[in-house]
Amino acid sequence: MFNAGDIVKVLIPNVVNYGYDYRLTVAAGLGDFVSVSVMGRKYIGVVYGIGDSGLDASRIKNINGVLPGHLSVSDLQWIKKMSDWTLMAPGAVLRLIVNVPDAFSPPKTEQLYSFDFSTSARMTDSRQAVADAFASNDNDPMSASDIQNIAHVSGAVVRTMIKNNILQPTALQQVVTRFDNLNYSDAGNVTLNPQQQAAADAIGAAIEQGGFSVNLLDGITGSGKTQVYFDSAWRAYSRGRSVLLMMPEIALTAQFMSRFQRRFGAPPIVWHSNLTAARRRDIWRGVLRGEIRMVVGTRSALFLPWQDLGLIVVDEEHDTSYKQEDMGNYHARDMAVLRAKIAGFPVVLASATPSAETLQNIALGRYGRLRLTSRYGGATLPTISTIDLRESRPESYKAPDDTDATDAPDIAGNLSPALCDAIGETLAAGRQVMLFINRRGFAPIVQCKKCGYVAGCPDCSVGMTYHKRLGKLLCHMCGRTAPMPGTCPDCGGAISTRGAGLEKIAQEVAVKFPGARTALVSSDTIMSRQALERLVHKMEDGEIDIVIGTQILAKGHHFPNLTLVGVVDADMGLFGTDFRAAEHTFQQLFQVAGRAGRGEFPGRVLMQTYQPDHPVLTAICAGDRDTFMARDMDARRAAKMPPFGQLIALIIEGEKEASLQQYCAALAAAAPNIAGARIMGPIAAQVYQVRSWYRMRFLVAGDARAQLQPAVAHWLAKVKTPANIRVKIDVGPQNFM
Ligand SMILES: [Zn+2]
Ligand SMILES: [Zn+2]
Repeated sequence: MFNAGDIVKVLIPNVVNYGYDYRLTVAAGLGDFVSVSVMGRKYIGVVYGIGDSGLDASRIKNINGVLPGHLSVSDLQWIKKMSDWTLMAPGAVLRLIVNVPDAFSPPKTEQLYSFDFSTSARMTDSRQAVADAFASNDNDPMSASDIQNIAHVSGAVVRTMIKNNILQPTALQQVVTRFDNLNYSDAGNVTLNPQQQAAADAIGAAIEQGGFSVNLLDGITGSGKTQVYFDSAWRAYSRGRSVLLMMPEIALTAQFMSRFQRRFGAPPIVWHSNLTAARRRDIWRGVLRGEIRMVVGTRSALFLPWQDLGLIVVDEEHDTSYKQEDMGNYHARDMAVLRAKIAGFPVVLASATPSAETLQNIALGRYGRLRLTSRYGGATLPTISTIDLRESRPESYKAPDDTDATDAPDIAGNLSPALCDAIGETLAAGRQVMLFINRRGFAPIVQCKKCGYVAGCPDCSVGMTYHKRLGKLLCHMCGRTAPMPGTCPDCGGAISTRGAGLEKIAQEVAVKFPGARTALVSSDTIMSRQALERLVHKMEDGEIDIVIGTQILAKGHHFPNLTLVGVVDADMGLFGTDFRAAEHTFQQLFQVAGRAGRGEFPGRVLMQTYQPDHPVLTAICAGDRDTFMARDMDARRAAKMPPFGQLIALIIEGEKEASLQQYCAALAAAAPNIAGARIMGPIAAQVYQVRSWYRMRFLVAGDARAQLQPAVAHWLAKVKTPANIRVKIDVGPQNFM
């Protein structure tokens, strides 16, 4: 505890802040939130330690006041350790925590709108997006800015909807979120099978014993992992502790919410990126006050101001969406484990396809493993096999009437006769089919066959993808669109497309199975969870025969009547330059395979490939995850790649090529010798230009014990960064573009 008049260090939520000294005007403790001014601007800061700037007392400003709430000392240690690990400034970590505007101000009086769901107005895509924004906030009234931000629509759309009375103004009011029920109870309506019970008891013992531990709940899809970690959540919650259930955004499904509600008697408090400002603020405050003790959320929920956190569950722990790459680089799973280690509480990781990092921690005895090997309710695993495309060659098909000039009259097919036969049989039996192709749009390459011209993005060094539904070319790096050229801009020759995306597969399905009802699922067609839910309902109600989708489809959903999954291009992803390519391909295909036959009817999975003997595919066919991962990890051990070594990537970006090269040369000249490590680069990034900025990379590779972070921090501090250069530090990079 500090007294009035003491000089303390206050951490400011700013990406470059390491703390400034202030004088207390009243007593305050470590971790207390305080209001301070920096250059005339007010900030919410945190008392972070004893003042140590050595500044003359006359130059030290007073704090504006102490705010009602605090972080624990272990939270402060976590901020420090996370900063040391990720090389973000501690202020950047605090900014992840203090991420709601007006966190301590009284609610503002605002003009809000409610959505008239009884409207007879035509539901355009943008109106549907607005309706979905309301639905994802329990139909609370929303401000115009919330509607724009969450539905991703323009102000003009909102104004028109107000004029048409689809959005109706409510009386001016202070927005305060009402939570239905913050006191959960265990409905006791779930009986665990013996394996689930054993796992639940093992985690339960860790919770009762207290202290840090990590257990992997290692179970095939459909084995009932959720009910096991619900049991763990209840054990921690009922002992008065707070509980975070963390999952990828896509897994926050209505199916999940209703299971939670059935088990705990009330819907969960949900934290994700599509909440209104008021709801974010009220959940944040509720957590800070200790009134909200259980939250289901995406990776950013880890940064809520938790009070007495007693358990974190990381569902789908292998999922790449836990890695944050834009605003600071961190891995939410690893930072959750770090938080638990410092504060001394258990973590549960859950996955059907655990990451290599987690498997290595198990091998080293740091994490425990609890296996669930049987499918809940006795459903059987699908049979998985390959179709050799060299033998069963896809037949070309006649272009449908609406085909534009870019297609030849005979179009090369992508669906082999063997897969088509299986689709036909499945449809004839009245069951459903899923076709998986992880590529959006119609065709990834738009070219002139005469002169070799390829349509590329003018701002990024990548080609543009033809999206037929949009009628445009789209850059998947920066989102820029361009019209589809009628003829080659260089020679006037005919333009054609090459390669197949989702929309092209849909075209082939429409020609080869004209009676089938199909649906397309990708981030282009499914913009919100509500849109995904509508699709799920259509599948359940039997309104769809064939669903064609990207990886959005690979997770979480359970369609009892789906008995055939066709993987259109199983080779895609096998030859990435990234050492995780095989692992990620395996995880993705394994997840997709898990969609089939989860109901009473057995399912089958057919993967089209030119390389049926590839170890990734033979391992999936055999359902032999452990052998596959063991071989993959042997290769990584030999190459000293993670988890057997460490990597830190530096991505250096500049608007001007010359100054970028100059800076990189200066960095290379100053590169240190690090024991047990080497520095590679600079080399041009795989995608050299994004949004017209040029990009170079360094890679620091070290053995497991090398001390990379302090050496990298010292290195970067030696060379002054010019104003027109951005340096991104990526510790444990997942992306090598
Ligand atoms: Zn040309
Ligand atoms: Zn671009």
